[in-house]
Amino acid sequence: TLVAGVVAVQGDVSEHADAIRRAAAAHDDPAEVREIRTAGVVPECDVLLLPGGESTTISRHLAADGIDEEIRDHVAAGKPLLATCAGLIVASTDAKDDRVATLDVLDVTVDRNAFGRQVDSFEAPLDVEGLDEPFPAVFIRAPVIDEVDEAVTVLASWDDRPVAVRQGSVVATSFHPELTNDPRVHDLAFFESVLA
Ligand code: GLN
Repeated sequence: TLVAGVVAVQGDVSEHADAIRRAAAAHDDPAEVREIRTAGVVPECDVLLLPGGESTTISRHLAADGIDEEIRDHVAAGKPLLATCAGLIVASTDAKDDRVATLDVLDVTVDRNAFGRQVDSFEAPLDVEGLDEPFPAVFIRAPVIDEVDEAVTVLASWDDRPVAVRQGSVVATSFHPELTNDPRVHDLAFFESVLA
C-alpha cells in the first residue's frame, strides 16, 4: 500500500488526497493518505504532496514545525514529491519574496505574480510530456517560472513559460491537477517510481 503524505498546514489538502487515491486506484493500490501538520509524519511516507494555497503561510508553518528539514531529507533520499502552484513556490530555490522560506528542492526561480496579469484564473488544454492527450490545466493566480536550472526538465509550457517541470523525484506544476478528476499528473509524478 502506498503511503502518501499531504502537507496539510494550509491549502487544498482534501483535493490532493482524493487525487492520489484516484491515481493509486488505477494501479489497484488503495493508498493510505496521511495529513502532515507536525514533524514525524514525513519519514513514514513513500510520496509527498505539497498543495496549492498561500505560499507564505505554508512555508512559515513548515519552517516553524521542523517539517521543512524532513521534506528536504525525503527528496534527498530520491522519494517523489508533487508540488502544485503555491507548493511549487515553496519547493523552489528562489521565490523572489522574503516572506517565503523556500525548501530549495527544485532549482527554479519563480515569480509569485499572477500568471498573465490581465487574467487571474483560467483553464487551458495543456500538452504535457509523457501524456497522450492534453491535460485540463486549471491556473489560479498561478506562479510564473522564469528560470530553470539545466538539471530541470520542462514537461509543459504555456505562453512560452514553463508550467510543469521535473527534477529527479520532484514534479511541480503552476496549475492545479488536484482540481480536476484527471489523475494523470499525479500518476506521472509517482508512477515510474512507486506505483509501478
Ligand atoms: N499566488 C499564491 C501564492 O503565492 C498561489 C496561488 C495558488 O496556489 N492557487 O501562494
